[in-house]
Amino acid sequence: MRNYEDKVVCSLVEDTRVVVYVASSTSLVEEARHLHHTSPVATAALGRALTLAGIMGVELKEGQRLTLHIRCLGPLESILAQANSQGEVRGYVAQPSVFLPSREEKKLNVEEAVGKGSQLSVVKDLGLGEPYVGYVEMPRGGIAYDLAYYFTASEQLPSACSAGVYVGERGEVLSAGGFIIHTPLGTPSYVIETIENNISLLPSLSSLIWEGKTPEEITQELLASLSYQIVGEKKLCYQCHCSRERARRTLVLLGKEELKDLLTQEGRAEVNCSFCNRVYLFGDKELKELIEKGSK
Ligand code: ZN
Repeated sequence: MRNYEDKVVCSLVEDTRVVVYVASSTSLVEEARHLHHTSPVATAALGRALTLAGIMGVELKEGQRLTLHIRCLGPLESILAQANSQGEVRGYVAQPSVFLPSREEKKLNVEEAVGKGSQLSVVKDLGLGEPYVGYVEMPRGGIAYDLAYYFTASEQLPSACSAGVYVGERGEVLSAGGFIIHTPLGTPSYVIETIENNISLLPSLSSLIWEGKTPEEITQELLASLSYQIVGEKKLCYQCHCSRERARRTLVLLGKEELKDLLTQEGRAEVNCSFCNRVYLFGDKELKELIEKGSK
């Protein structure tokens, strides 16, 4: 297995406002699979969402957070992928063991698992109170095309997106990656045509990364015959910041009566983090303390 470090590389096309992000995300998607025991099609869907969220996170400032939330009409039910400005991503899928036969050989059927017409929401918590929320009905369900549609329809920012996960025979992640290209209104048409042409010649992202291509090399192929500059890069990783203290606060939110029921029926409480599957256990002594605190 090629174990490259996950990262996003950001480039600008000269004399334009075109921004190109290319990411490799093999290790973080494998980490997600390992944590959530996802089936191949669930791994591919979650991996695509995590990769694209990770790329979008690069535009955030410290303390800000971005969430891609898909309410699926298909059997995955829902997908959540979160990213911050540090390149840390985390996420989960509601039904991780969904199995669907492939429609094409060797191609996982993400579109059907998510479902055409599902709702894709982009939630940007910029630390300014109410988060910004935009959403679209997904025209396809394969996630990347739908996100490009979101940028164009909801943010008036014409874009091209791609994301792919190559899953091995034992369900392991062999490679994963993605790109987002923003071509703001006013971009010269020859630049758009050149990029469109380059994209049409490009093999799938997951196969390029599987062959050992780096995000820099993929950028070169995407922007062939255009002048551009690489202006930054950021490492990506799977990271969950849950803690016992946060789990305790979740319990307090249940309310005194619910906690009392838990104490009498179970004698303890369990808080399970959906993002990393860590389990926080609270014994009867701690539960009693929480009930007393809550009654004040
Ligand atoms: Zn967690």
